[in-house]
Amino acid sequence: MKSILVTGGAGFIGSNFISLLVKKQLFRIVNLDALTYAGNLENLKEIENNDHYRFVKGSINDDVLVEALFEEEQFDYVVNFAAESHVDRSIKNPEIFVMTNVLGTQVLLNIAKKFWQTGIDKNGYPIYRDGVKYLQVSTDEVYGALGKTGMFTESTPLSPNSPYSASKASADLIVRAYNETFKMPINITRCSNNYGPYQFPEKLIPLMINNCLNDRPLPVYGDGMQIRDWLHVLDHCEAIETVLEHGKNGEIYNVGGNNEKANIEIVKLIINALDKNESLIQYVNDRLGHDRRYAIDNTKITTELGWSPKYTFEQGIKETIHWYLDQSEWLNRVINMEYMVYYNTMYSKR
Ligand code: NAD
Repeated sequence: MKSILVTGGAGFIGSNFISLLVKKQLFRIVNLDALTYAGNLENLKEIENNDHYRFVKGSINDDVLVEALFEEEQFDYVVNFAAESHVDRSIKNPEIFVMTNVLGTQVLLNIAKKFWQTGIDKNGYPIYRDGVKYLQVSTDEVYGALGKTGMFTESTPLSPNSPYSASKASADLIVRAYNETFKMPINITRCSNNYGPYQFPEKLIPLMINNCLNDRPLPVYGDGMQIRDWLHVLDHCEAIETVLEHGKNGEIYNVGGNNEKANIEIVKLIINALDKNESLIQYVNDRLGHDRRYAIDNTKITTELGWSPKYTFEQGIKETIHWYLDQSEWLNRVINMEYMVYYNTMYSKR
């Protein structure tokens, strides 16, 4: 059984990914997560006692800890989800985004290289143990914003606009450099907006569901016409597994759901599904530098690797709303004092 280091596995996508891998019984999994405000071990309750799964609390920036884990486990794969992931927070405090997303990635790459290298070829390039790979989970936001038409392909130039997307783009470039300079086996996936179970309620869909359930105003940035391409988290996780096992060395794969929706459309859909009134909508000042539109061209991953999304948006959003309704205790627990302080600084004075 191959061994995999999943970082940030207590977050939204990482926890869905680990649960999927455990169900498929494909790997021995170590989950390294610092348990920031976004990390929640409750997301992994169902699989926490599985023999092939182990949680380690710690940071990807802690090179001593990461080395010790490599020493113990002889990982074949690293999948790096660990990140500060919220654009709004990156506007308030960019520093931690550079620290985690850029420097943390570099620590992982450096240690993976050290443990995976078995020799040097005649040109001075490192040679690696067979079957190893580093996969960086990135975002479509590295490409910047689109106008009314067009889509991001893997060759769209990087043009990130927020401190979050700039830190993710920087990490992508370092990953790319390890492949070019050190020939380290890597892939990068760039995904559009995810939705589904276990998403922290600072993000659009769970934020709106939670506020609707509590009859709180629904803060909508600007005119609400920012367009995102939505993908169910389980489709994203399947795409990552596909790239991990079949992705061509050094390649980047865009992952998208072909579901472009304006934010305000999503908000109205949630209001209707929960039988609430549109009077809850409260337009607030737009986010600084807010990207207008993202859209992913996923031709490469669908034609070369045979992945395609299984969820329609209609089915996925219905299931997601039901999940949050059923998991009101989960929601109540994650909405703690720290979250409310953050929420009030974001929306109370607008
Ligand atoms: P998340 O914020 O829900 O989870 C991030 C996880 O990383 C948390 O569990 C947190 O505790 C952990 N973490 C933070 N700093 C760490 C550190 N220094 N060391 C170890 N763990 C640390 O994020 P998410 O939405 O699950 O996103 C996961 C990844 O996918 C991120 O890299 C993000 O950029 C990328 N991504 C997300 C989306 C999306 O829509 N959510 C879309 C495209 C790409």
